Formats: sequence, C-alpha cells, structure tokens
Amino acid sequence: MSNHQTDSIHEEWAAAADDVLSTMEADGSRRWLRPRLSMGQWWKKRRVVAYLLMVVFVLIPHLRIGGKPVVLMDLVSRQLTVLGKTFYPTDSLILAFGMLAVFISIVLVTAIAGRAWCGWACPQTVYMEFLFRPIDRFFEGTVGRGGKPKADMGGLRSIGRIIVYLLLCMFLAHTFLAYFVGTDRLAEWVRTSPLENPSAFLVMAGVTALMMFDFLYFREQMCTLACPYGRFQSVMLDEQSKIVAYDPVRGEPRAKGKRPAANPAGDCVDCHQCVVVCPTGIDIRDGLQMECVNCTQCIDACDNVMERVGLPKGLIRYSSQDEIARKPRQLFRARTIAYPLLLLAVLSGFAWAIGSKVGFDARLLRGNGAPFSITATGQVNNSFKLRLVNRSSEPQQYTLTVSKPEGVTLDVLEEQLLSLDPGGNVLVPLNMEFAPIVTRGSGSGSKSATLVVEDGQERRHELAFTLLGPR
Ligand code: SF4
Ligand code: SF4
Repeated sequence: MSNHQTDSIHEEWAAAADDVLSTMEADGSRRWLRPRLSMGQWWKKRRVVAYLLMVVFVLIPHLRIGGKPVVLMDLVSRQLTVLGKTFYPTDSLILAFGMLAVFISIVLVTAIAGRAWCGWACPQTVYMEFLFRPIDRFFEGTVGRGGKPKADMGGLRSIGRIIVYLLLCMFLAHTFLAYFVGTDRLAEWVRTSPLENPSAFLVMAGVTALMMFDFLYFREQMCTLACPYGRFQSVMLDEQSKIVAYDPVRGEPRAKGKRPAANPAGDCVDCHQCVVVCPTGIDIRDGLQMECVNCTQCIDACDNVMERVGLPKGLIRYSSQDEIARKPRQLFRARTIAYPLLLLAVLSGFAWAIGSKVGFDARLLRGNGAPFSITATGQVNNSFKLRLVNRSSEPQQYTLTVSKPEGVTLDVLEEQLLSLDPGGNVLVPLNMEFAPIVTRGSGSGSKSATLVVEDGQERRHELAFTLLGPR
C-alpha cells in the first residue's frame, strides 16, 4: 500500500472517529472536555439531590440500628448487614431474591424514566459534576457567571488542584472501605502504622489511585466508553421512555439570529449552547445517543437562550421519542405492566424467604470419611457436623435431641460451641451411636431420623436426616 493510500485511509478514519467518539479529536488524541455550567432550574434540583447523596454516602457507615451497622459488607466474616439485619452465605435465596429485585427495579425505572439514575444518582455523575468539576472551576477560574474556563491551568494552581483531588479521593476511599470493615475497625487502622495492617492500607491506596485515575484522567469516558449500563440502555428504553430530547419539529430548520416574520426558520438559533455545556461532548440535536447521561444541562442552557430570544422554553426538554414524533402517550404498555408484576413476585419471594428465617439457622452435614463405623462395644457410629448461626441480638444456648428413632445416643464433641454470641456462626462436630438393629432389616441399611435444635426462646428447628448402618 502506498504512503498516499495510507494517509487517505488515516484521514478517513480520523474523520469517522470524530463523528463516533465525542471524547476524541480527529487525530485520535484525547479531547479534553471542559463544559460550561448552566445554572438553570434542573441544575439547582440536581445539586440538592447530589449533595444529599454525598452526605448519605458518608453518613451510612456511622449509623446503627439496634447496635448493628445500617450497611456492612464484611467479606472476611462473609456476612452482609443491611438495615441492622445480618445475612450469611446460607442466605443465598434471600440474597438472590434481593439482587433480582434490585435488577428488575433498575430495568423498570429505566423503562419509565430513562437514564434518571445516570443523570441524578450515579456516583460517577454526582462526584464528577458536583465535586470535582467545581474544584476545576475554582482553580481555573471562569469567564463570566458560570462561564467557560479561562485557560489551561499551570504551575502552582495545577499542583494545588491535584492535592485537593488527592485529599478528597483519600477521604472517599476511607469511607468506601468503612462499608466493608466498619467504622470502628477503620478508626483503629487509621490510628496505627500502615505496616501493622498492610493489606488494608494497600486496599485504601488502590481505591484512592483508582478514584484519582477516574476523576482526574478518565472522567466522562467512564460513562461513554466503560459503563455497561449505558450500553444496555438501548434495550431497556422504548419509544415511550422519558429521555432528554431536542424537538426537531419545532427547532428545524435551525438558523442563527432573529427571525423576521417571513423567515420560515425553526426555533433553534444554532447558538451551540446545548453543546458547550454537555459533559459528554455530544450535540443533543443529533437525536438519542448512547453518550447522553440525561444530565439536563442542555435543557437549562437552551431554556436560557429561548428566554433571551423571546421564544417559549422547552425546545430541549424531558420528553420521549414518541412524544417528539407527536404520537400519544401510553403509560400502560407491555414492559410497564410486566416489570412491576415480576417485581411484585420477586419481592413476595424475598419477604417469604426473610420471614421463614427464625432466630437461628441449623443445618446438619454428614462428616467426612466412612458412612459409619462399629465401636469396640459393637454399637454403630455416625459422624455429623451441625452448622449453627445465631441470628438473634442476644447470646443463646442451644440444646440438641434426637427425637426419632429411639435409642440413639448423641455425643456433642465440643459442648462449648453450643453457646453462641449474636451473629455467631459455628460448625459443631457430633457423633451418634445406636444399636445395629436400628438399620438392620431395613434392606437399605438406613433409617430416617430427626434432630431437634432449640434455643432458650422456644424457637426450634427439626432437621430430618438419615442414619446409616449395617443391613
Ligand atoms: S445531551 Fe444534554 S442531557 Fe445528554 S449528557 Fe449532554 S447535556 Fe446532558
Ligand atoms: S441551545 Fe437551543 S437554540 Fe441553541 S443550539 Fe442548542 S437547541 Fe438550538
């Protein structure tokens, strides 16, 4: 291939890429977006929500319900505490129902309200637009009220900005870590040398580094390139879903300047204000795009322009693809009926799974090795392990009895394990001895049995199991 051909392919690719990625220049280099701020009515509402969410994120690890954290994902002990209720790996059904309910809720909210999550509640948008970009504006300075950035930062201002970013990212990383280890343990680690808790320190340093990379360098590319939710929106949205949309019927043909009476131009004055405020660098007038995070900045910017040129607001507005095409609104459609029904079924399952858990969990597991052994006195011995989890908020003492069949002697090898603190989770080794006659004659060498486990609060579990012995 000649150099000339290579160059022309490169130019074609660069031109195409310019159309494809809003964060890339024609030569393939990064386009650094420095969106202007439009302080309209939607921005003011989003600001309230964003700062509330930030406060909630920081406060949650410090809050307690009945002495337990509101949220704690204790990976080491494999326990999840939500609203003061602790879940264990044995609660896989509850966790599965819970995760399914969250997933269906996301799909349902997207079908109705579009990417409301992205624009209003996603940590990426909340921290980028309401914490880190304001810091940029503080260090860069702006031209006019909420206007465009003055110039590239250099020297001391750039260093100052990085230091502020670092301090904030470290604070957020510590808060994030508190969700996994709890505030008490975190406070203890913070007071001691990193050498005493190297793994915790490395996790905190890693999370800080990732946040620095994201908010300082990667920025809006997290939404436009990396986030899977943005990629899936095309299947989750339908023509009736709420989106931020430009109204081409009203706006086109766009033309600059005032409109004389005879001018057939549309309402768009082609001022590009909707483009310069966009944090993902797109032009909303090109229609529904995957990069749009529904941040409403273009609505505020365009409303401001419309006000100034004396035209009605709402050329860019919360709308739907059908509404923009002047088709009637349809609240009840297949997905807005099916998803709530599905959600109701899953939530019912979730409530049932939680309700079926009494004050403790008990599960009997067969011991390792041979199915049975014969003791020196001629008795048959079966080994088991009993998994006990105390779900109550008080210490409990458990008692065990074999209610069926008669004549089985139960030997708890470590009796002290039957006293459990709240949240305690143990494996108790058991031996059961019985006369060979119990299983002999059954044909299969087995006998159905029941172990009754009780706590001091009249709560009990009856565990069915099988005794194995000679035929
Ligand atoms: S197009 Fe509008 S709503 Fe979408 S990301 Fe850009 S400014 Fe936000
Ligand atoms: S801000 Fe409104 S008037 Fe200006 S270019 Fe965008 S859509 Fe047109």
